[in-house]
Amino acid sequence: MQTDKKDIRALSKDQLREFFAQQGDKPFRGNQVYEWLWGKGAHSFADMTNISKETRQVLEDHFVINHVKVDKMQRSDDGTVKNAVKLHDGLIVESVLIPTPSRTTACVSSQVGCSLDCKFCATASLKRMRNLNPDEIFDQVVAIDRESRLYFGRPLSNIVFMGMGEPLMNYNNVLKAIEKITSPEGLGMSPRRITLSTSGIPKMIKKMADDNVKFKLAVSLHSAIDQIRTSIMPFNATFPLAELREALEYWYSKTKRTITYEYVVWRGINDTPKDVEALVRFCRFAPSKVNLIEYNPIDGGAFQQADEEALKMYISILESNGITVTVRRSRGKDIDAACGQLANKSQ
Ligand code: SAH
Repeated sequence: MQTDKKDIRALSKDQLREFFAQQGDKPFRGNQVYEWLWGKGAHSFADMTNISKETRQVLEDHFVINHVKVDKMQRSDDGTVKNAVKLHDGLIVESVLIPTPSRTTACVSSQVGCSLDCKFCATASLKRMRNLNPDEIFDQVVAIDRESRLYFGRPLSNIVFMGMGEPLMNYNNVLKAIEKITSPEGLGMSPRRITLSTSGIPKMIKKMADDNVKFKLAVSLHSAIDQIRTSIMPFNATFPLAELREALEYWYSKTKRTITYEYVVWRGINDTPKDVEALVRFCRFAPSKVNLIEYNPIDGGAFQQADEEALKMYISILESNGITVTVRRSRGKDIDAACGQLANKSQ
């Protein structure tokens, strides 16, 4: 939809109240409209039945409601659901619903494509890029919440920002989306059920600590040796491990919240005792745990999951150093919905 009218969901509640005041109406109207937009998920002004026809017309004249649309939905044999979500300008991002016996997790995107260049990630191959607006992030969550109720008879329980994009390169909009997701007028979800996963932008990690955010932090580490990390995540040359370390120490000193390191072990890249020892040292800088992620091969990728032996070595050395390790098994591989596989392939 091409129009000069403003997206009404870009306005804060105060801005909506002010709009009505300027129209000579009661500012309280702003609260009602806000509730329709965020609490009740209204898709059109006509839905807003407790607002007079005249006022709805005023809204029509000034604004649009840009809603995303689930363009295509795929279900995996393991219950994972992947949505291709069409944005108002026709671009597409993907989000994933991951069910387990006790919870339903939404994996959501924060950008169209990604600003970073991780060699092992399919999203990095997408050229086109723009940041998602707060409402576009919020809508992905609402769509997955609906699917969770429909297919699993329960609401969404957790959210991870591990879809397409680097959330800290779109920090303000991600923060606004999380505010809506956690506010009583939005979904009322506890921030402790939300995890932001970043490749590690030191300045922004410090900013999050200063902003006193309440959600959890995960960092895609993959190697605690600069030379190796730079070879697989080239932006590490700009933000080397020493800076990341300093930012994470700052994060912990301010928030007192443990950090999760996401880590894939690849054959011939980071599968030696030297690699684990470097990781153990890195884990000492701030209270943390390690999440070993199964590698999801991407087309033409030069990467291979390390042998079981290497994984066992990682687990045993980490555990003998008192570091908590979890192993994340892949979900939704058959529909390219697993970590690092989101690349709009179905389009
Ligand atoms: N940009 C953010 C969030 C998106 S990636 C970040 O880097 O954290 C989400 C997670 O998937 C990250 O831990 C990332 O390193 C991991 N990942 C990327 N490609 C992968 C692949 N092919 N197999 C397994 N995990 C992958």
